[in-house]
Amino acid sequence: PAPIRPLAPVVGADTTVPTTAGGETVYANLDYAASAPALVSVAERLSGALTEYASVHRGAGHLSQVTTARYEQARETVRRFVGGRSDDAVVFTRNTTDAVNLAAHVTPGDVVVLDIEHHANLLPWTRTGRARVVPAARTVEETVGRLEAELAAAPAALLAITGASNVTGEVLPIGRLAAAAHRHGARILVDAAQLVPHRAVSIASWGIDYLVFSGHKLYAPFGAGVLVGRGDWLDAAEPYLAGGGATADVDLDGGVAWHTGAARHEAGSPNTLGVVALAAAAQALQDIGFEEIGYHEHRLQQRLDEGLALLPGVHPLRVFDDAADRVGIAGFTVENHSPRSVAEYLSVTRGIGVRDGKFCAHPLLRKLGYPDGAVRASFGLGTSSDDVDRLLAALSDLVRR
Ligand code: PMP
Repeated sequence: PAPIRPLAPVVGADTTVPTTAGGETVYANLDYAASAPALVSVAERLSGALTEYASVHRGAGHLSQVTTARYEQARETVRRFVGGRSDDAVVFTRNTTDAVNLAAHVTPGDVVVLDIEHHANLLPWTRTGRARVVPAARTVEETVGRLEAELAAAPAALLAITGASNVTGEVLPIGRLAAAAHRHGARILVDAAQLVPHRAVSIASWGIDYLVFSGHKLYAPFGAGVLVGRGDWLDAAEPYLAGGGATADVDLDGGVAWHTGAARHEAGSPNTLGVVALAAAAQALQDIGFEEIGYHEHRLQQRLDEGLALLPGVHPLRVFDDAADRVGIAGFTVENHSPRSVAEYLSVTRGIGVRDGKFCAHPLLRKLGYPDGAVRASFGLGTSSDDVDRLLAALSDLVRR
């Protein structure tokens, strides 16, 4: 088959690592779902921002003004990237986990969740005591039906659901789920950590109320995430953190006038560089275009799926029999080999980086019948067919040993 080249340059693409075969090999990074390497264009933007910055919001100096403008511009870039409404709040957080915790902090009622979620979209809800966990069925169709039945059974404030599974890559029908939530007077929050790097998302046209994701899975470095969505619950809740930046006026008799809008929940000096990088990554993906991104990924995925299907004892992980779409994530197990031993074999003998374990989704791994975990290969813009072929060749050697 014809070679598939990387779609865009990422940092670290020519990193070499030692192998037990002796000598060095180019590292094959197949762990994009954990953290995607920064796009070279994002790294360059970040280096530029790193040479001239100062405090945001309260400084009159030129660099403060420049940094503030970049930080505020990033909100607009992110809003456009996810098709947000003009009055949506864009609140910068540390990551997806932080953004879901913020959402849990402001949500005034019960929350319906599936049992296949990443812990980041499960534990913030279950620990409030107001989560109603619905078991996913074997089909997307039946799962949508179960969610709708739960929303109808008793009032819920929110349906909190993943856009794409971090274990299987399976994509859920968000527009339909948003409509179902709204029919029963609930809102919807989408954990888009694994969706936004791969698919164009539209908050406004899909009817999403809240969307959360992380910069480090979107080809930016660590440290910044975001919650985009309706401002009313955010403005009605106590500030997420108490401190400077969230307040309009303070006196020592306990009087505090908190800001409304994003500032209410962004107390303390924000991660302006992380936010600039996140926005640069969002813009870069938009410039490349999601049609191109989807096509590149689809060809790699086909190659990987077809190759895995030929390997005896290799079992792909799937929640659903009928998922209409999957992003570039392939969870699988290898008979007679622990996930850790597979991942170590790939790393030390071939210089291939994959993830093994339970992927912060313990209930899902248990549900799928793999309580001890699995292996996950995941890819993105910097991936080539060579990376996929190397993985398949290594797995083939492992299962035939
Ligand atoms: N949700 C999903 C679907 C994820 O894959 C991840 C990261 N593995 C998270 C949430 C949490 O993201 P973060 O660690 O950046 O908070």
